[in-house]
Amino acid sequence: MKLAIFSTKSYDKEYFEKLKPNSKIEVSYFKTALNEDTSKLSKGFDAVCVFVNDRINRSVLSKLKKNGTRIVALRCAGFNNVDLKAAEEFGIKIVRVPSYSPNAVAEHAMALILTLNRKTHKAYNRIREGNFSLDRLTGFNIQGKTIGVVGTGQIGKAFCRIMLGFGAKILAHDLYPDKQLEESGIEYTSLDELFEKSDIISLHCPLTSETKHMIDEVSLDKMKNGVMIINTSRGALIDTKAAIRALKSKKIGYFGIDVYEQEESLFFYDHSENIIEDELIMRLISFPNVLITSHQAFFTREALEQITATSYQNIIDFEEGRSLKNEVKQIK
Ligand code: NAD
Repeated sequence: MKLAIFSTKSYDKEYFEKLKPNSKIEVSYFKTALNEDTSKLSKGFDAVCVFVNDRINRSVLSKLKKNGTRIVALRCAGFNNVDLKAAEEFGIKIVRVPSYSPNAVAEHAMALILTLNRKTHKAYNRIREGNFSLDRLTGFNIQGKTIGVVGTGQIGKAFCRIMLGFGAKILAHDLYPDKQLEESGIEYTSLDELFEKSDIISLHCPLTSETKHMIDEVSLDKMKNGVMIINTSRGALIDTKAAIRALKSKKIGYFGIDVYEQEESLFFYDHSENIIEDELIMRLISFPNVLITSHQAFFTREALEQITATSYQNIIDFEEGRSLKNEVKQIK
């Protein structure tokens, strides 16, 4: 079995080498992302392994099919970048890593909240310059605040548990409310009520045609003035232009994002010596109450181990004809 790993970073190679199973998997690493231009590299590979910003659309899948690729292993949970209908038509299996340390992402969401709130990033810089003043560092207690959690799957649940530990009141919204979570003290509600009542809103649902731009002009209008919005899920859940307008009008008081609508050409790369053409991210960066991280919420040792082990297992299961418990199929 020949496996091509696209969008390889040094840490991917480190973990894929370290955890390589004692089987006949032959691994090649490509730094480039998989897309229309690079799909020709798949020639002769039975399997390709991709990440969040690789493009697995109809045209790429058609090329993979021609080149003999039989399985695409996503080394992530989200699969919004895959045309599942085309994959089915071409008979290419799609597998993913549904859960790899949900706590890693939930804890990062908490890190964004605490940093934006208590301004530790600003204090760090001030003190290095000998400025010990507390001016403009005022935060607020999370205890007693209302936290809106959209999506209570693996990550949303872990986030709720952390927030319960802080003594916050949690309003949640999900298509499938979780009984156990309800018993632990969280309340499920409509999306509108969550928007209206929450002091902090954290997004943990997948990106689908229904959830795209769920934070837009209309939903922002319903929110409390000065609301904190946290997105560690997928960038396009938020209409970035609407968020910028709401930051300017002070409707959004704090904005923490680990994902961004147009992250594909920016995130995971060093652009420090380039002119960044993306006006929206430059505008976002200019706000003092915006904190952006570059899709790093998953990035813990535990998660990398889990991602690598599950990706290998998915491919081995396919090769050995076992049922694919992590297969992603189009919902009919
Ligand atoms: P999950 O499948 O366990 O949970 C998703 C939850 O969202 C489910 O309970 C589902 O019912 C709910 N949902 C679906 N549509 C909804 C809607 N319209 N409204 C409200 N809820 C809805 O997934 P997860 O492991 O918790 O991951 C959640 C998302 O986090 C992923 O889809 C992925 O986009 C993102 N993620 C980001 C990172 C990162 O590093 N930033 C890492 C992993 C996952």
